[in-house]
Amino acid sequence: MCLLKLMGYQGLSMSAAMPYLTGEKQGKVVGITFDDGYLNNLTNALPVLVRFGFSSTCYAVSQRLGQTNVWDQAQGIAQTPLMNAEQLSQWVAGGQEVGAHTRHHVSLLQCDNDTCVEEMTQCRAELEAVVNTPVSHFCYPYGQYAPEHVIMAKQLGYGTVTTTQRGRVVSGADLWQLPRVPVLRSTTLPVFWLKVVTRYEDRRSQ
Ligand SMILES: [Zn+2]
Repeated sequence: MCLLKLMGYQGLSMSAAMPYLTGEKQGKVVGITFDDGYLNNLTNALPVLVRFGFSSTCYAVSQRLGQTNVWDQAQGIAQTPLMNAEQLSQWVAGGQEVGAHTRHHVSLLQCDNDTCVEEMTQCRAELEAVVNTPVSHFCYPYGQYAPEHVIMAKQLGYGTVTTTQRGRVVSGADLWQLPRVPVLRSTTLPVFWLKVVTRYEDRRSQ
């Protein structure tokens, strides 16, 4: 975050990034997103985001608030606490945004259409009831989706949807299939710099 600030970038939530995504505004901005709603977003990331005056979007799983990433359990992935309703409200009170990530972290490819619609709409309603602000952005769990889910997200009124496709967003991009730049625990600062300012990520399709 410090490096972004030094380079003159503003970190923004998906809502704040919207005018830049649609081409209405131009500037050095980076959309910051977090998947799943982990408690460490509140305890570790929020103080840093606040320090630099950045906003971000955290995609939460509405039926798993206060639990752990149980959907990863079968794969042997470590269990990490997720924010509960009160903590999610603290996230929003800290100037950050909540996005939707389905009710149960389902793979849309493994659900029938009715279930997909329910997972996408109910998640939004449940999260809006928790944080008392509009939830207008969605993220496909596991990055898994088919063309019909893109149409669904659009018809259900989501402003943007993020994927796990790698790359920087270019002007005129499909707002319901936005690529992202992954930043992991293993991402070193020089590589992070490459990812932000060069075509490093744009050459990677998945
Ligand atoms: Zn996820």
